[in-house]
Amino acid sequence: MFKCPNCLKITELQKVRCSHCGETLKYSIAQKFDILAESVESALKMELKNRKKGKDT
Ligand SMILES: [Zn+2]
Repeated sequence: MFKCPNCLKITELQKVRCSHCGETLKYSIAQKFDILAESVESALKMELKNRKKGKDT
């Protein structure tokens, strides 16, 4: 998930077009990598939190 540069709403990374405003999203491979790396990082951090929570209970 990332922000559409046109309407600034959260949209899905896989979509070529923003699901909100219909803006065609064009990113370079480097930009896509950055977006993907950020989303993976946050997902991993969330997973880590959940795992720690599970251990405590
Ligand atoms: Zn948009």
